[in-house]
Amino acid sequence: MKLKILNNKNSELKLELADTTPAFANSLRRTIITKTNTLAIDTIDLHINTSAIYNEILAHRIGMIPLKFKDILKKTDECTCEGKGCINCEVKLVLKKSGPCTVYSKDFKSTDKNVKPTSDKIIIAKLLEDQEISLEATAKLGTWPEHAKWQSSNIGYQYYPDIKTSKDCDMCNICAKACPKSLIDTTKKIKLKDNYECDLCGKCVDVCPKKALTLTKDRTRIIFTIKSVSGLEPKDIVTGALKTLKADLSELSKQIK
Ligand SMILES: [Zn+2]
Repeated sequence: MKLKILNNKNSELKLELADTTPAFANSLRRTIITKTNTLAIDTIDLHINTSAIYNEILAHRIGMIPLKFKDILKKTDECTCEGKGCINCEVKLVLKKSGPCTVYSKDFKSTDKNVKPTSDKIIIAKLLEDQEISLEATAKLGTWPEHAKWQSSNIGYQYYPDIKTSKDCDMCNICAKACPKSLIDTTKKIKLKDNYECDLCGKCVDVCPKKALTLTKDRTRIIFTIKSVSGLEPKDIVTGALKTLKADLSELSKQIK
């Protein structure tokens, strides 16, 4: 199997897996979805909330804030504290603001210097004169199936695309005009300018009056796109999932033997 990084910027990683199978690509995708731990606020001790926002809405909004963290944290149910909660599996964050002001994610004071919101600018509430929010939040590791707040990334994959023309093609250029990303080169023969950018939408095939165009999908070359929506870098999400997948498979193999 060969791996090629096509793009890695703005929390998005695009890579190509070659000499592989759709089954392997789907295993990797499912491992990322179900087994990547991310950090999110799980419980709140609310001392004062005289803002216009209900406690439940405030708690939900705070829970959905993605947090950056170091991977030395353990999951509470796998920690030596046996689920009671300790500094190895929990991080406390304190929020205390009085109006008039706008409360942002940057206003959280974390007890761990490695833990903070991924953005300073997430609005939590707007406070008027004499309104106040005071709370202590507890962040824990979790996975996407437990709650959407622990979602690590948006992830998808597609097969490597290409186009072919039959002898009926008269170079009418209708396909090039129809391509929403203007990816079809018609200078000498019909071909894709950048195969990696094609979304396989099939518009070029649909509009061809001679039905001379075919869109092919190479199932041994798979283009993965991972957009992080958590405190993890997309590269760390993939390497973490590969380690988990390897460990799961060796455990299965051991049990079969
Ligand atoms: Zn613990």
